[in-house]
Amino acid sequence: MKLYLVPTPIGNLDDITLRAIKVLQQVDAILAEDTRTSGVLLRHLNISKPLHSYHIFNEHQTVQRLVDQLKGGKTLALVSDAGTPGISDPGFLLVRECIRHAIPVECLPGPTAFVPALVNSGLPADRFTFEGFLPHKKGRQTRLAELADEERTMVLYESPHRLLKTLQQLADVLSPDRPASVSRELTKLFEETVRGPLSELIAYFAEKTPKGELVICVQGKAPEKGKGRKERGGRADEADEDE
Ligand code: SAM
Repeated sequence: MKLYLVPTPIGNLDDITLRAIKVLQQVDAILAEDTRTSGVLLRHLNISKPLHSYHIFNEHQTVQRLVDQLKGGKTLALVSDAGTPGISDPGFLLVRECIRHAIPVECLPGPTAFVPALVNSGLPADRFTFEGFLPHKKGRQTRLAELADEERTMVLYESPHRLLKTLQQLADVLSPDRPASVSRELTKLFEETVRGPLSELIAYFAEKTPKGELVICVQGKAPEKGKGRKERGGRADEADEDE
């Protein structure tokens, strides 16, 4: 009885861990966001397992049935189309329900888009906030306004057709001069990270229509005078006490 969350590549098929392969070989069944997409990966890995659909539209209905299967002794693996399940992807509801029923849960470490984007950005990575996708309509302005005073580096997921609008709104709320980056097509053939003030990123992508998947990183607001923090690589054990 166990639920595994297994990260899968975000582009480059070599980015799957040996343990992820082992777990996918051992489980009784695999739950997939899109059975066709995961089927391609499983064929590539030569893994043949029962594959069931688990996506945002059937998450609520399926959770109880899956909990029953797990309680019956089954071991299941949840995968999403790409990256780590539960990160801007389905997974949270099932994990919470498993924990409630004392079913062991284990998330393997592995690919996810926001970590390489954050590190590639060159912006402080010692403290950051993962914002995922901004709401498209309701609540969007509130979320943007909340970011105005954020001092940590902000990481956002975005689709190419909303990129310019989001960069423009971030520039309006934060400042056109705020250092930022856009990482596109991470781990893929045309991987690209563009760095600069928000105004430059807007000009760049107004000229070159963005394509593919992308992550935006934006530097946080400078701390108020006297409350400054030292720039460091982010190791907690290097921190001074009571700065
Ligand atoms: N679960 C995934 C993860 O762990 O990163 C995220 C899934 S979310 C539905 C998809 C979003 O992740 C994309 O719109 C994009 O913002 C980001 N993303 C996924 N793959 C990417 C890649 N190869 N390059 C850049 N961004 C990527």
